[in-house]
Amino acid sequence: MSDHIKTDRRHIWHPFTQEQTAPDPIEIVSGSGVKLFDADGHEYLDMISSWWVNIHGHAHPEIGKAIAEQAATLEQVIFAGFTHPQAINLSASITKLLPGDLNRVFFSDDGSTAVEVALKVALQYWQNLGQKRERFLTFEGGYHGDTVGAMSAGSASGFFDTFKHMLFKVDSLPYPQTWIDDEQVEEKERAVLKQLDAYLQQHGHVTAALIVEPLIQGAGGMRMCRPGFLRQLKQHLSSYGVILIFDEVMTGFGRTGKMFAANTANVTPDIICLSKGLSGGTLPISLTVCSDYIYEAFLAESFGKALSHGHSFTANPICCAASNASLRVFEQEQTLERLPQIEAVHFERMRRIQPHPRVNHARVCGTIAALDIVSEQSGYQAAIGQKLKPYFQQRGLLLRPLGNVLYLLPPYCVSDEQLHYVYDEIELVLDHLDEL
Ligand code: PLP
Repeated sequence: MSDHIKTDRRHIWHPFTQEQTAPDPIEIVSGSGVKLFDADGHEYLDMISSWWVNIHGHAHPEIGKAIAEQAATLEQVIFAGFTHPQAINLSASITKLLPGDLNRVFFSDDGSTAVEVALKVALQYWQNLGQKRERFLTFEGGYHGDTVGAMSAGSASGFFDTFKHMLFKVDSLPYPQTWIDDEQVEEKERAVLKQLDAYLQQHGHVTAALIVEPLIQGAGGMRMCRPGFLRQLKQHLSSYGVILIFDEVMTGFGRTGKMFAANTANVTPDIICLSKGLSGGTLPISLTVCSDYIYEAFLAESFGKALSHGHSFTANPICCAASNASLRVFEQEQTLERLPQIEAVHFERMRRIQPHPRVNHARVCGTIAALDIVSEQSGYQAAIGQKLKPYFQQRGLLLRPLGNVLYLLPPYCVSDEQLHYVYDEIELVLDHLDEL
């Protein structure tokens, strides 16, 4: 064990890690494009975009340059009573990219805080209007982050049972998950919408908002639904005035094939949460973007109706500079134009893998592909995922199955050859799963 790793093991408490049994972490010293390089000279193809954040590849020079320049110009300034050019430019660019009248940008630090802000805004919106609407609707399997409000919104995922006494109550609907050649999808959607209608008839007038990860539930197991379902969802909610929150923390910035899942689904939510890919995956920053009508309900002569929320680093100029640079790279490299090709490779290979006896529910949405491995256990702690992780690492692949769900979520600079190589490796291991 190197001295560095000894120090790590002595002092660092890693996320989502059982420190007693986990193998030593791999020390990554640099990255370039799709590749990460460790301290022993091994390289890894980052097929999960380092927890779904990386967009243009690691250590992109344009973003690095923007960060360095901003750090040397203005590294931080309080954002109450002050503003700065990077935040102004970012808010203008983002609202131009977003559909509808999503024009009001609130800055925070990460996906979880973007969700906290959305929930607080939704609740206070109704209070400001003098209406008592305190219920929240979610989907089973939804995940929205690890802070207390976000955990509450994601409580139907089952991830947070340890903390259940801290969480506020939410109501949840089944999620009409679908996959390639799914013949029951319409039936599933109809059943959910029927349940939604029954719920709304009873509680619609006291429901503040519904929060959903549009098109793909990430941590819940890369579970996909059809765009048409989201359009129907919006229609049903609209008749009761329930605020629709899209948590696009994972799906934003091209993952579903267009800039936002809202574009792919052709649905404009009332509030949208963005993070992860916002800065190209280089620095933590998030946005909760609200429709004009929501913002306007917070305007008054008294402070009482203002949104009483903020963080020390709200709209940090360096994080904003990285985000502006990432959006420039989208234009310069015409990044969105590469995405259909990634999706085409996913479909080609997933269709080929689908009949394998150890594969269930192969599915693709934009740049994300996933399948369920048939194994004795399913769920996040399924043993097969624990075995596959080190297996893939030894073969130079950063893949991190969610239990028995194996998925690919690459940076967009991945080449066809690299993707095909990864699929070849997956096909190989599927034939030898019992030997792992
Ligand atoms: N929402 C979604 C859909 C996510 O996938 C995540 C993280 O994976 C979050 C919220 C929380 O984001 P963060 O980990 O940046 O707090």
